[in-house]
Amino acid sequence: MKIGGLQRVSLIDYPGFICAVVFLQGCNFRCSYCHNPELVEPRLFQPCIKEKHVFEFLSTRKGKLDAVTITGGEPTIQKKLCDFIKQIKKMGYAIKLDTNGSQSHVIKTLLAEELLDFISMDIKAPLERYKEIVKVPVDSESIMESIRLILKSKITYEFRTTIVQSQLDEDDILRIGKLIAGAGHYVLQKFVPIKALEKEFLKEKNYPDDKLQRIKKSLENEIRSVTIR
Ligand code: SF4
Repeated sequence: MKIGGLQRVSLIDYPGFICAVVFLQGCNFRCSYCHNPELVEPRLFQPCIKEKHVFEFLSTRKGKLDAVTITGGEPTIQKKLCDFIKQIKKMGYAIKLDTNGSQSHVIKTLLAEELLDFISMDIKAPLERYKEIVKVPVDSESIMESIRLILKSKITYEFRTTIVQSQLDEDDILRIGKLIAGAGHYVLQKFVPIKALEKEFLKEKNYPDDKLQRIKKSLENEIRSVTIR
């Protein structure tokens, strides 16, 4: 496993749970606004943390932490992800996975083996615009399959989209809403211009709040709960 970082405690990554966060190194997408360039761009990679170190740390936190959030980068491109999660689950922790949903076969296995308690999938764009936003060719059928698997699953989930004004217009966001019609929860995530894969994105502006509120209201025709954060 290529582990790029370990955050020992977080109160915000897994709603209602105190968790540790494991950051996996490497991603198959290249979203310009990515706020974790050091986990995406190989020239910025730091030496990996050993799995053994993560397990040792978690063994000392039983009863103090409830869960582990696994994020990246993109966790599902790591070959040993299933085994890694199995070992953490055996220690009694709940697991939250953050994913871009590109590897539906991995999500299928993780759900079938009941290895996840919460899954959060980023939806980057309406399908026709995916490649333009993530800067690499995309298997849109795999994205759709991930959405279907998550909608059918019995676990807690959320879909979320980072809203960058220059990347997605209102119509794009409403078309994303159609992709996940019937979902329980969708998060419109404001872009925070602190770090970005492409430096010029640090000058990006967010939509005004009243416009985001209007979009949220329209989305609520298709989705039970929409949050702006
Ligand atoms: S935003 Fe997510 S999917 Fe996009 S490059 Fe960064 S880690 Fe990868």
